[in-house]
Amino acid sequence: MKTIAGIQSMKLWTRRQRAAGQKIAFVPTMGFLHEGHLSLLRRARREADSVVMSVFVNPLQFGPGEDYERYPRDTKKDRRLASREACDVFFTPSVGDLYPTGFRTVVSVGGFEDVLCGASRPGHFVGVATVVLKLLNVVQPHVLLLGQKDAQQAIAIGRMLRDLDMDVRLIVCPTVREPDGLAMSSRNNYLSPDERRRAAAIYRTLLLGKRLIREGGARPGTVVSRMKAALRESGITRIDYVSIVSVEDLAPAKALKGNLLVAVAARVGKARLIDNIEVRART
Ligand code: AMP
Repeated sequence: MKTIAGIQSMKLWTRRQRAAGQKIAFVPTMGFLHEGHLSLLRRARREADSVVMSVFVNPLQFGPGEDYERYPRDTKKDRRLASREACDVFFTPSVGDLYPTGFRTVVSVGGFEDVLCGASRPGHFVGVATVVLKLLNVVQPHVLLLGQKDAQQAIAIGRMLRDLDMDVRLIVCPTVREPDGLAMSSRNNYLSPDERRRAAAIYRTLLLGKRLIREGGARPGTVVSRMKAALRESGITRIDYVSIVSVEDLAPAKALKGNLLVAVAARVGKARLIDNIEVRART
């Protein structure tokens, strides 16, 4: 596995691979790797000849007072984990290289920015779309792999790829969970043992939502209320949102019909945790 930090070196590597007819898959991350990230690498290998993983904690997607400074970082360990998987290039650009003095162009995926996580994290998705577009321009992959764990991100980036006529195929990979159902996340590292136990209620609550939707007859608002009550009973009281939306455009579901995304964001201790599941309603 090669480690590349410079943007020009990364572009040169890609140019050579493409000239040799190699298909490139790309897995962007913020590092502090866990099994969720590694599952993306494994899938990437099945889809392409060469695999690039980036590790970049993107300041543009963190708001004031958020956890940019204390976001967990361990590049040495990440490099070791990636090298054990089928990763060909470990790409670690610097903040100064990606956002040099004078940088001012951003990408906005209209309509996705002020719902769900966008409502509680203003500017977050502009930061995400901007860095993903920049990384795609540098790495120039054929295939991009993202996790279902960040469903809103995956939907927004899919929209951006279509809107900007980009020749990149998006593959969204399933959420990898701990044995008790908690979605793996670098931010789980913030949790104390007691908070870690409580956090498992998020997935249990999503399953409750799924069961209520599948039973039929309920209204979205009733399911959301039952889910919020279940979270509170489990000691999760700082709920950012519990939402049932359309998987296509994230519009709030007016009725429990079609393909729905049931999504939760809540604060547990110092961590803001998100999770979701897709549910196909019976009607
Ligand atoms: P992050 O480093 O948290 O920005 O995540 C990098 C990529 O890994 C994103 O596409 C995430 O959706 C994906 N990812 C993070 N956690 C998981 C997980 N538990 N299962 C599957 N994919 C994940």
